[in-house]
Amino acid sequence: MRKGRRLLVFTGFALLATSAAARDRLVHDPAEFSRAVDAARPGDDIILADGVWRDFQAKFQAQGAPDNPITLRAQTEGKVILSGESNLRIGGDHLVVSGLVFRDGHSPNGPVIAFRGGDDEAASHSRVTRVVIDRFNQPDRRHEDHWVELYGQYNRVDHSQFEGKSNAGVTLAVIRRAEPPIVNHHRIDHNYFGPRPPLGSNGGETIRIGTSEQSRSDSATIVENNIFDRCDGEVEIVSVKSGANIVRNNLILDSQGSVVLRHGNGNLVEGNVFLGHGKPHTGGIRVINAGQTVRGNYLESVTGTGFVSALAVMNGVPNSPINRYDQVVGAEIENNSFINARRITLGAGADAERSLPPKDSRFERNLIVDDGGKGIIRTDADVGGIAFAGNVQSAVAAPAIGQGFVRRPVKLERAANGLLYPTDPALAKVGAPRTLRPIGKDEVGVPWYPKGASARAAFGSGKTVTVAPGGLAGAVTQAKDGDTLALATGDYLVSAPLAIDRTLTITGVDKAARPVIRFTAPTLFRIAEGGRLRLSGVTIAGDRAPKATGNAVIRTAPGPMLANYAVEIADSRFTAMDGAPGFDLIATAPSQLAGHIAITGSDVDGLSGKVIAAHSETGDKGWYNVERVAIGDSRFREVGQIADIFRGGRDESTFGPQFRMTGSTVANSGTAAGASISLSGVQVAEIADNIFTDSAPIRVTHSVGTPRTRIVDNRFSNTPAPVIRELYYRGPQRAELAGNVVR
Ligand code: CA
Repeated sequence: MRKGRRLLVFTGFALLATSAAARDRLVHDPAEFSRAVDAARPGDDIILADGVWRDFQAKFQAQGAPDNPITLRAQTEGKVILSGESNLRIGGDHLVVSGLVFRDGHSPNGPVIAFRGGDDEAASHSRVTRVVIDRFNQPDRRHEDHWVELYGQYNRVDHSQFEGKSNAGVTLAVIRRAEPPIVNHHRIDHNYFGPRPPLGSNGGETIRIGTSEQSRSDSATIVENNIFDRCDGEVEIVSVKSGANIVRNNLILDSQGSVVLRHGNGNLVEGNVFLGHGKPHTGGIRVINAGQTVRGNYLESVTGTGFVSALAVMNGVPNSPINRYDQVVGAEIENNSFINARRITLGAGADAERSLPPKDSRFERNLIVDDGGKGIIRTDADVGGIAFAGNVQSAVAAPAIGQGFVRRPVKLERAANGLLYPTDPALAKVGAPRTLRPIGKDEVGVPWYPKGASARAAFGSGKTVTVAPGGLAGAVTQAKDGDTLALATGDYLVSAPLAIDRTLTITGVDKAARPVIRFTAPTLFRIAEGGRLRLSGVTIAGDRAPKATGNAVIRTAPGPMLANYAVEIADSRFTAMDGAPGFDLIATAPSQLAGHIAITGSDVDGLSGKVIAAHSETGDKGWYNVERVAIGDSRFREVGQIADIFRGGRDESTFGPQFRMTGSTVANSGTAAGASISLSGVQVAEIADNIFTDSAPIRVTHSVGTPRTRIVDNRFSNTPAPVIRELYYRGPQRAELAGNVVR
């Protein structure tokens, strides 16, 4: 680009006149920077000296000229680090920012980068390119901010990297003027949107274009050739809330959630590649409103259902308020490939309020192939308003839709572009085009900064260190991320909490003679920022813990935590934790999220508190403590409560909390608390094939969205039947209760 500009200087007379005095200004501190900005003229480069710029709130307010911008850039790309309390405001026209890295800090006020100087100083024709924002999070995950806010018109964000946003708020938001709204014409292209872990509340979108208030006007923003890699923040990856936008040729990789045409009309979603690799909740495209076109997209092994189906065409609300659901009218859905996708839902969300099915819409030349022959299309409403023609679907036992489909075996072959296509030439015009080319990692972001570095080390990915009695505390301190501590048989006594701030596995060497860990502080393991703990093949006894209320085997450090932690327990035994009240196995705290807690093949015998105490969030903002709980093949006896999980609020933005318990036994538990398991606001609960004896009932409270509760094939002996309560919904029983035996 710089080369191009120099070329213009030497070929254009007019440009020569204005650029003759173009200067490079190397600046070393904020004062020099401000003077350089004040003096900047079209063509100038303001160059930040290499190094760490700590607590630098840069205001880049200047006027460049067409084809002759003022550029703010790093002396060496990637060597200028804005850290601490830093941010950038870009106000004016024809400005370019490049080569900066934001990390090790957060914005002290508002977004990290805003395309406006002050409230009325929106930038236009300006560009942020080759910029990195890496984990530049507010210290409290509940504190909301955006990383990039686009205002004005004709701005561009390209070849940049955004990764590891863990606090609330959209990663990149197009903020639209309210009165009157203007057409934005922004371009967001060739960026790497890296891992964004589940937020545990609404507000974890990666891109949002507008808000519902101005959504019936056009933004005309283009989102193209970006990679979205593990963008798991919430159910919406890209939330379109305006008209005439284009989302095309993006690669959506292993990301929970969907591209959602939430509000606004006349948007185009074309040529995107969604690869889910079977990961849970990987979605596709959700259609709402009028005049939407979805064509030439390729979706493979995405597993989402309901709103996050590979394709979800929603039902609308009559005379919808602007923040609800306009009817789908005139949708054109054509030439998309759905390969081993789990679900297409038509009329999604149909209920008493969302009563208007799609109309005047077309569904043509789509290719639907799945191994199982289950038939992935599900109709939740009348689909008479959708014309089906020329679609091809692999054999289905009981098709949901009769007309407009040819059902036949479809043999697929992976083409040079890495995607699957039918081998039969007769199917050349069905499904996504062969010209699709998933964008490569080397074509997005910058070459000088790693991509995906914020992802956590996997359990067992490091080295294994053998530990003898007496050596546990020292070994925990010295362990590296991903290491495994292999405990020899023997008695371990721990006198102070063991801080876990990395991925660590602690395992017994001999399954037949497990090491026994006792502890004398109120906490055995304290999980801190970055911590993930796996225990296997150990016995932990609570008989040496203080005879005081509130002990815990595992608890998180107090205060907010940004990274999602995890706890896995396998083949372990917990005993003698009933010497004082409120002894928990895993105790959680507010403003922290466990990505998952898994307990398998383990015994808990005598615990006065809760195995999983995940009820510390309060209020109706939808915050909660744990995304996924899985308990399998375990035994609980004389336990205060197995799990206490709470999520407030009613929004449908998150996948969690989810709770699953199978193949386990519960005895003499939950009676003091009045519930053996207490789930409130849990979105997905499955409790199957368990035996409850002499225990309090399971209590489930439905509040959020469309909860899916299955309590099946359990035996309840001298234990009341499950109690299901609806906080808001009025209608027939929504929980599936089947095959249970209550005696
Ligand atoms: Ca949302």
